[in-house]
Amino acid sequence: MKTLVMKFGGTSVGSVEAIDQATDIVLEHAKQWDRLVVVVSAMSGVTDALIESARTAVTEEEEEAFRGIIADLRARHHDTIEALLPKDNEREKLLSTVDNLLDELGAFCHSIHILGEITPRAMDAITGMGERMNARTVAAVLRHKGGKSESVDATRLIVTDDKHQNAAPLMDKTRARIQEWLAPMLESGVVPIVTGFIGATEEGVTTTLGRGGSDYTAAILADCFDADQVWMWNDVDGVMTADPRMVPDARVIPILSSSEMGELAYFGAKVLHPKTILPVVQRDIPLWVKNTFNPTAPGTRIVREVKENRGKIKAITAIKGMSMVTVEGRGMIGIPGIAARTFAAVASQGASVLMIIQASSEQSICFLIPTPMTPPVVKALEQEMERELARRDIDRISSRDNVVIVTAVGAGLRDTPGISAKVFGALGKADINVIAIAQGSSECGLSLVVAADDAVDAVQQIHSQVILNGG
Ligand code: ADP
Ligand code: ASP
Ligand code: MG
Repeated sequence: MKTLVMKFGGTSVGSVEAIDQATDIVLEHAKQWDRLVVVVSAMSGVTDALIESARTAVTEEEEEAFRGIIADLRARHHDTIEALLPKDNEREKLLSTVDNLLDELGAFCHSIHILGEITPRAMDAITGMGERMNARTVAAVLRHKGGKSESVDATRLIVTDDKHQNAAPLMDKTRARIQEWLAPMLESGVVPIVTGFIGATEEGVTTTLGRGGSDYTAAILADCFDADQVWMWNDVDGVMTADPRMVPDARVIPILSSSEMGELAYFGAKVLHPKTILPVVQRDIPLWVKNTFNPTAPGTRIVREVKENRGKIKAITAIKGMSMVTVEGRGMIGIPGIAARTFAAVASQGASVLMIIQASSEQSICFLIPTPMTPPVVKALEQEMERELARRDIDRISSRDNVVIVTAVGAGLRDTPGISAKVFGALGKADINVIAIAQGSSECGLSLVVAADDAVDAVQQIHSQVILNGG
């Protein structure tokens, strides 16, 4: 029994033409696989608009300002549905379901406006609506084209913890739900169109898996079905040597190992959600990244291990919006526990640390966190180190905003001589200053920090001088 899980991202189901194309792809592959599970995102830009509606409800004084955003969403979904489906009962039912969801959104925004705040829980209920509207639309178009298909809200399938906006699946419970709800559908030859991005707590409260989380939904379903393959349909020909928006001559990488992909995703390559890799790799399920608008292109294949091209830099990525926090002072030398206390204080604020640098003199510890976390983290550190600061064992806790982590990725970089020379040579030639460096904790990544103004240049230089020169 061969099972394929496919996910269509926002642009792949973001317009009349895209939905038409995506549904053709589904129908073609439904014939070739015993079981096909499809995950869809919201139409591109819809999740952003939903967030904007909630924010507007809080910030705008005029009570009904959010209504304009909802009206645009209604028009976009109506226009799409009307262009894709003939006027009949089924279409009317779909339009009224979309209207009901958007009315619900209006009611949420109205309460948010009165309360003057958005809880993470309310935000999850709101942001998940894009997927709920779109899964229904895609399933209806498939039925219209002669397929057997039904939409399924993942709130019924994916049981998560209650960490709203970044929920984690409870896999055993999820597996049981999937057996109960999805397996019978597949047995009867129906292609389920599952909402990406969302789940629900055991009590049934909607949660989301984090921005870009539809990839993760597909990975969770693939894990539960022990799928044979996972295909992520995108608007690019595969995973590329760099973000094509930043580097126009970026090229498609035909094959990547899961740790290389993990490193790329973690350090900002938006093409796959970082959490996608683990469940798929643990089961050794081959994963493909493909282009909806160029479906015959081979795409990128991600597998557990790649033997060729070890020690070559295959891709370069950048993660923006970072701040570098430094704890420094000569009195820190040799005092045990400073690092532990530093990171405990950081963790107390829920900040995730992307990179850590400590020189051997122990006079300072530097680390990188997302900029919005900087004020609470610095405050927590000042409180934690109050005594050391008073005694001048620690001179200062400072932060620098507007920095970017640039990461060069390739298996075996740690064990290959000359890698740093290539990277720093390229940056030196272009007169780009490197603020900090980290290598070695991962065998396939070399990360460095540059000023935000230098980031694009740094990525382009490493791309043209190192990657296009054979890595
Ligand atoms: P989807 O909505 O289909 O999930 P995303 O917008 O989340 O699509 O991710 C795809 C986008 O990721 C591409 O359009 C591309 O601009 C961007 N991207 C960033 N880095 C890379 C990379 N290394 N390779 C391919 N695409 C990348
Ligand atoms: N629609 C969600 C987002 O924009 C999830 C996704 O597209 O993967 O973040
Ligand atoms: Mg995405």
